[in-house]
Amino acid sequence: MKPLGPLPPEFAEQAGALMIGGKSYAAWITQAGDTPAFVYDFGIVRSRVARFRAAMPAGVGLHYAIKANPFAPLLAAIAPLVNGLDIASGGELAMALPHGKPISFAGPGKRDDELAAAIGAGVTINLESEGEAARALAVASRLGVIPRLAVRVNPDLELRGSGMKMGGRASPFGVDAERVPALVRYLIDAGADWRGFHIFAGSQSLDTGALIETQAATLALAARLAEEAGAAPPLANLGGGFGVPYFSGDQALDVEAIGAALGEALGNRPAILVDTGFALELGRWLVAECGVYLTRVVDRKRSRGETFLVVDGGLHHQLAASGNFGTVVRRNHPVAVASRMGEPADDLVSVVGCLCTPLDRLAERVLLPRAEAGDVIAIFMAGAYGLSASPQTFLGHPAPAELVTP
Ligand SMILES: *Cc1c(COP(=O)(O)O)cnc(C)c1O
Repeated sequence: MKPLGPLPPEFAEQAGALMIGGKSYAAWITQAGDTPAFVYDFGIVRSRVARFRAAMPAGVGLHYAIKANPFAPLLAAIAPLVNGLDIASGGELAMALPHGKPISFAGPGKRDDELAAAIGAGVTINLESEGEAARALAVASRLGVIPRLAVRVNPDLELRGSGMKMGGRASPFGVDAERVPALVRYLIDAGADWRGFHIFAGSQSLDTGALIETQAATLALAARLAEEAGAAPPLANLGGGFGVPYFSGDQALDVEAIGAALGEALGNRPAILVDTGFALELGRWLVAECGVYLTRVVDRKRSRGETFLVVDGGLHHQLAASGNFGTVVRRNHPVAVASRMGEPADDLVSVVGCLCTPLDRLAERVLLPRAEAGDVIAIFMAGAYGLSASPQTFLGHPAPAELVTP
């Protein structure tokens, strides 16, 4: 037997039929037309935003990183709640523009046409290299506009904590810290509207202490680079990296402690940053817990002493649950039988997807209440890096519905 990850708090205490945003899973499936389907409980996103606002120092902006979940109705609902949208492609630019929020564009490999569309729309470009800086300036002069340019920094310091190593490594992301001051001076001399720094240290950290240290070190780095460049940054995007608990034993982040420490660090910030605005950019922490992937059991089969629940969904929609999206060791995400929430779990099963590949395991050797063909399995933590981060066209199954609660 292998443990399941923890259900998000909004679902953990439920009994009977799974309710999502006040409506039963069966009603959602009726609305979707069929399984498999994603349902996003926007009330959960709203409560995460409110928690962030209450925990963080006043004036620290919250940006939403669209790549975590670009579903248009969810984006439309979250945009008014945040201070900016962070994008990483021309496609995401098109999704972000209608919402009228400040946009910043990071990511390596920005093409000239993407730079032109973004610069023309007044978007801040987080420059990933000197080469990109030169192309952005050339594009802007062709368009006859003053570009808004920030420098993404590849930091030169090493920090403890899983997945949070910032240190002195080669990276496709950002400009090596020691070359940043010269690049800033070059941008200013070229007449660009230099917007400041973008320093993103990593993703999915559940180590509250490491995040606190990272933020303090990031602030110190921004100050040092600004002093060396001889220019105060209008904005410092301090990154994000707030993780969520996917696996057994994971502990949720203490966001209030992070906010208190950041408040203290900002209160004592070096003089060159007194007029700087600050922002954090979050994806997963805002949306992961809102998403439930509903998939129906097509077959219950036995093989050599084990039971398999074969479902109509799979890794083509929810790659992360199969353990094939950025995890080293496959562990189980939280999963439940949607009609039997809270019932005794005494049936040892593996939940496998319908794809003809052994990679398609959604839950491996877990204890669940007994489920038969026709029952619905709920896979939680499906709100971030779900459908858009999965190989949907692999094996030619139909696209799932996506629904969001009001
Ligand atoms: C992916 C990404 C994010 C969002 O990361 P999460 O782990 O989803 O919070 C934020 N900023 C940048 C630059 C990213 O590439």
